[in-house]
Amino acid sequence: MTIDLEALYTDLHRHPELSFQETRTAGIVTQKLAELGLEFEEGLGKTGVATVIANGDGPVVWLRADMDGLPVEERTGLAYASKARGVDPSGQDVPVMHACGHDMHVTALLGALERLVGSRDEWSGTVVAVFQPAEEYGAGAHAMIADGVLERFPKPDIVLGQHLTPLPAGTIGVRSGTQMAASDGITVTLFGRGGHGSRPHSTIDPVVMAAATVMRLQTIVSRETDPRDVAVVTVGSIHAGLKNNIIPAEAKLELSLRYPDDAARARVLEKVERIVRAEAAASGAEQHPEIVVDHSLPPTINDVEATARLSQAFDAAFGDGTVVDPGMFTGSEDVSWFAREAGVPLVYWFWGGVDPEAFAAALAGGTLERDIPTNHSPFFAPVLHPTIERGVDALVVAAREFLG
Ligand code: ZN
Ligand code: ZN
Repeated sequence: MTIDLEALYTDLHRHPELSFQETRTAGIVTQKLAELGLEFEEGLGKTGVATVIANGDGPVVWLRADMDGLPVEERTGLAYASKARGVDPSGQDVPVMHACGHDMHVTALLGALERLVGSRDEWSGTVVAVFQPAEEYGAGAHAMIADGVLERFPKPDIVLGQHLTPLPAGTIGVRSGTQMAASDGITVTLFGRGGHGSRPHSTIDPVVMAAATVMRLQTIVSRETDPRDVAVVTVGSIHAGLKNNIIPAEAKLELSLRYPDDAARARVLEKVERIVRAEAAASGAEQHPEIVVDHSLPPTINDVEATARLSQAFDAAFGDGTVVDPGMFTGSEDVSWFAREAGVPLVYWFWGGVDPEAFAAALAGGTLERDIPTNHSPFFAPVLHPTIERGVDALVVAAREFLG
């Protein structure tokens, strides 16, 4: 049997599901795996699925695809556009769309598994395919690991994954080293002493403390980071007080931090802590501020040797000029938890889904940002071909490169 990948993709696209709710998607995945004669485990990390193709001695290669959609109302006008709705974690009814291309990721991985099953006599080793939930929450990989996916399946020698991006269809983007930034979401609570707005001298004002802290935090990037390095310190929310004549007892700041590697992460976090504590001390606070890391995504770092090997394999398979360096993305991913937890190399690449002629015209006209919808846009609409085929081929080429 042959999986009709176009039908599979358009069906997934029509029926996107929010993070940790990918039950229909997981059901389609397991149905296809069963048709391929593969055994699988489902319900890993709530809605994840994993399967094994064991094919004798040799390396263990993990292939990962994420499955979740986003709360975005689709405006592509495509015949197979989503009209789906879902309920988000706050209980709100929201539109749902595959605006990040995870439907294409699932399609490509199933297509690649079919090819690998059909060519067992040409390779040896073990392929583990991981269909991960909730990438958009940065929580799905952790959830699958917490459910024991690294113990219940053969441990990887390398982890491979791919993401759709607004490059011309056919093009692959990959770089050695940091491919995507690390990020942390942090809540800082500053403690003052509340009182009457007319008697500030009898209080410790957390509003002034928060204002000074926000300003001083700006110097982490502007004065303490090498201008050649990348770091982002954003204070995205600040909350204190309820009324003009009451000095509140505390203030809360929410920060989003981004950096290219673990060393930079440690440096920035240390600076945040130092400044927050120092500003509290400068205000005469009687209680140390509280700093809580709400969520944390590691940098997506491509192994240098494996990336060089894979780039050559892509060039050999698809022709010179197929692979480009897309630069480092300041967005973040949770794929690397699998490789980090297992202590093995990762290669994570991007592949294009934009009509090459439209891309070339926008590039020539200097209108790429305006005319080519990016991931998470309501207009994100990868062309079906050759995007599907290149996604399948890239996974097969990559898996075969690292298998026996
Ligand atoms: Zn996304
Ligand atoms: Zn994505």
